[in-house]
Amino acid sequence: MRRKLVAANWKMHGSRDANRALLAAVAASLPGSCDVVVFPPFPYLAELIAAHAGIGFGGQDVSAHAAGAYTGEVAASMLRDIGCGYVLVGHSERRQYHHEDDALICAKLERALEQGITPILCVGETLDQRRQGVTEAIITAQLHAPLQALGERIARIAIAYEPVWAIGTGHTASAAQAQAAHAFIRSQLAARDAKLSRMIRVLYGGSVKAANASDLFAQPDIDGGLVGGASLVAEEFLAICAAAR
Ligand code: PEP
Repeated sequence: MRRKLVAANWKMHGSRDANRALLAAVAASLPGSCDVVVFPPFPYLAELIAAHAGIGFGGQDVSAHAAGAYTGEVAASMLRDIGCGYVLVGHSERRQYHHEDDALICAKLERALEQGITPILCVGETLDQRRQGVTEAIITAQLHAPLQALGERIARIAIAYEPVWAIGTGHTASAAQAQAAHAFIRSQLAARDAKLSRMIRVLYGGSVKAANASDLFAQPDIDGGLVGGASLVAEEFLAICAAAR
């Protein structure tokens, strides 16, 4: 049985005071029925980790390099150093605005795993791609390089299916659409190793909110959510966590 995981991607939102208050409100009422991971902006990570034992934390990004003269980058070893257990890799906003490709994404996965950090690999199609009926081909392509590069170590990652058309748009995939994509992802993993496919957590991301979380999380292949906008409102995020059991 896979324990559900709910991840809060705060993106580039908030301030020191606002983020402290948001996390304090979340931490005070977490239901305990699922794992919770928060991805704050980098400057606030260490302070929030120090103040909140018992919640998981992660970086929104990680360098593809282990160390060195890479201005502005954050190494996986640094994330581990301050207590991060997770990192987002291949988020569609990184693919789109920072032109991240498969090779870069694989290098980031490698750096995270070297440090014992669980990467959450994000995959998903654009609206155009869905309309063209190539959703499965896109997911297959996005999984191909990581599956090749990581081999058996793929068991140490989590995956987030995030249809790009549902991220920040208010258009959630229906529970049936999401389940179909998740079942497809699991079938791709099963083609490698049936046992492995049953172990890996596959999260859904894309306008998850309190009103749709229960339906989504009731699907057999949906193991929790990667939540953007709704994670910035404590009551909304707590209701999503409560739906994950
Ligand atoms: C995300 O950015 O990963 C995300 C799912 O955002 P939202 O929940 O706002 O759609």
